[in-house]
Amino acid sequence: MDYDLDSLIPKPPLTTRFAPSPTGLLHLGHAYSALLAHHRARQAGGRFLLRIEDIDTTRCRPEHTDAILRDLEWLGLDWDGEVVHQSDRFDLYDEFIHVLEEGGLLYPCFCTRKDIQAEIAAAQSAPHGPPHGPDGPLYPGICTNLDWREVKQRLDAGEPHALRLHMDRAIMMTGPLSFEDEKAGVVAVDGALCGDVVLARKETPTSYHLSVTIDDALQHVTLVTRGEELLPSTHIHRILQALFALPAPKYHHHALIADETGNRLSKRDRSLTIQSLREAGKTPEDVRAMAWAGSPGQDEV
Ligand code: GLU
Repeated sequence: MDYDLDSLIPKPPLTTRFAPSPTGLLHLGHAYSALLAHHRARQAGGRFLLRIEDIDTTRCRPEHTDAILRDLEWLGLDWDGEVVHQSDRFDLYDEFIHVLEEGGLLYPCFCTRKDIQAEIAAAQSAPHGPPHGPDGPLYPGICTNLDWREVKQRLDAGEPHALRLHMDRAIMMTGPLSFEDEKAGVVAVDGALCGDVVLARKETPTSYHLSVTIDDALQHVTLVTRGEELLPSTHIHRILQALFALPAPKYHHHALIADETGNRLSKRDRSLTIQSLREAGKTPEDVRAMAWAGSPGQDEV
């Protein structure tokens, strides 16, 4: 008898998440992202998680977190399980940093922003300026191959430093990779376009790239929905997943929502915070309709 073995393998429930950084009030664009993630999960009988990405303790504020939870509840979005706060998980991220350190995949970088800018300016770069990756201009390699004695001396002296990924070594270890995006299709990973990204900052012992990769995997997220401006970062996340042997979720990088004239909404447009819309007398239904109305055709659900 013929068996469809695939159909016998238990599948995890479709799990999405909304992962805002509490650096300010939620905006109509955030509402769209959250509604899309929530809708996809509920439509499939799956799970919708809420994660507060508050690793940057200088810019994130508890009052913004409170406002985010209030706005989401007001919009009628319910989430499954406890809200995860990344600021509670620095020890966890540190364990993963340790794994990369042991593998010789990280190096300390003592550069200030100014050092990097000066180096880039001094190098005769291409006519259209220095190459950029997901985090801005590619790191020009000042600290990539420092003599180990100098590194030791500077570390012993307590000089502040970030930890960067040796991207060339990482690529060598992982081999060719790809990720699947519902809109972009199968995307071949190009680590060289990202450069030696920072994985632990001077003032924060982790980074967006590291934390988001670990949390999506440990929370069993199967579909990552987020704005298309983060698509270039997914190359880094896929490389980290491979280095840590973590599963790769599917992605849906949605276009950013636009106003009636077709202009993309700016996150700085204060009149479009959920709070200001509520105060202007809009109902949750109005705001949900506004968010869907601004969504580009292919993302409407
Ligand atoms: N925390 C990020 C932000 O608010 C989003 C991260 C993600 O969805 O991967 O921009």
